[in-house]
Amino acid sequence: MNNKPKFLADAMLGNIARKLRLLGFDCKYFATINHDQLLLIAKIENRILVTKDRNITNICKKQNISVIDLSNTDETSQIVEIYKKTNLNKCKIDMNDVRCTICNGIVQSIEKEKITSRIPDKVAQNMQQFWICNSCNQIYWEGTHIRNLQKFIDEVNERL
Ligand SMILES: [Zn+2]
Repeated sequence: MNNKPKFLADAMLGNIARKLRLLGFDCKYFATINHDQLLLIAKIENRILVTKDRNITNICKKQNISVIDLSNTDETSQIVEIYKKTNLNKCKIDMNDVRCTICNGIVQSIEKEKITSRIPDKVAQNMQQFWICNSCNQIYWEGTHIRNLQKFIDEVNERL
């Protein structure tokens, strides 16, 4: 899907940035960034700014920058809010379409043999499919994280 929305999460929303990346969205996030820089990136890169900050929301509206002003505080409700406000009606995870949770890089599948030395023995024995981030080389596999995420996704879908 090339018409997926691109996001920019503000500095308070690191968890949401990581979730959106796992769900396959290009979502930029900087732990330390000032408001001017944040607004500039949203504007130049045509990203939807996700924030809980009223001031940022107001500036976005004045400057015609797409913004989602989250009103909920729990992660599930926040993701539901983002999906509803961008007219996305199905939440899913596709490991061939995830972004790196650490750096937002593109993640691609990789043969186990190439990364065996970098993963725990137990994982190497039990898992067959692996993915690696093109940018930071982080390795991913379908372990506990993905199972927990599936539960999260089910909860989101029930509310969409
Ligand atoms: Zn990465």
